[in-house]
Amino acid sequence: MTPIAQHIQEIRASLPTGVRMVAVSKFHPVEELMEAYEAGQRLFGESRQQELLAKIPQMPADTQWHFIGHLQTNKVRSLVGKVAMIESVDTERLLDLIDKESERAGVTTRVLMQVHVAREETKFGFYPEELEAYFAEHRFEQLRATHICGVMGMASNADDMERVARDFRDIAACYQRIKEIATDLRGFDVLSMGMSHDYPLAIEAGSNLVRIGTAIFGPREY
Ligand SMILES: *Cc1c(COP(=O)(O)O)cnc(C)c1O
Repeated sequence: MTPIAQHIQEIRASLPTGVRMVAVSKFHPVEELMEAYEAGQRLFGESRQQELLAKIPQMPADTQWHFIGHLQTNKVRSLVGKVAMIESVDTERLLDLIDKESERAGVTTRVLMQVHVAREETKFGFYPEELEAYFAEHRFEQLRATHICGVMGMASNADDMERVARDFRDIAACYQRIKEIATDLRGFDVLSMGMSHDYPLAIEAGSNLVRIGTAIFGPREY
């Protein structure tokens, strides 16, 4: 068994039932993705549009892709219809554009709303209050070709695991409040949080989708 296949088996064995795993393959070559594929992995995450578009035709057709990076509005059209989910919707403008382009392409795009709780300035996403207001005002009802499936978030990049756990609880609380606010929202059931170094804490806080790169593929060479 290759190291990649072994990592996938080990991580999968450690995940509770109901928790799915995105194999985050950014910066890794297709040969490594194929090793993961052969170990049974079908769901992959990429954060750069060009890299994703280059990889799609090189992988088997039943590979599923989640886009997890900051998405520029001028790149939306090229992704719509090609990805199973865009996890990183961080502005209403981006959401509206995804909707417009999806309608134009005759597809429905599944998305997650990215919520920002970590203190670092560089992270993208809606503040919890902002996101809750979006749902409280039922603005999602204007969407015609977009299905909001849940929330994605990242914890602070901190060694302080208390802090990380608190961030995950804050993201999970935002997700729960949206469920309570928008009871007519259908199929809102994905809580994506947890990466290689913190996914056990994320699962404890309620994550049902973890995004794991380094622990599967090893360090990235940027
Ligand atoms: C790169 C990335 C990951 C995976 O990070 P690892 O630490 O390598 O597991 C998860 N989520 C997002 C949004 C990423 O950009």
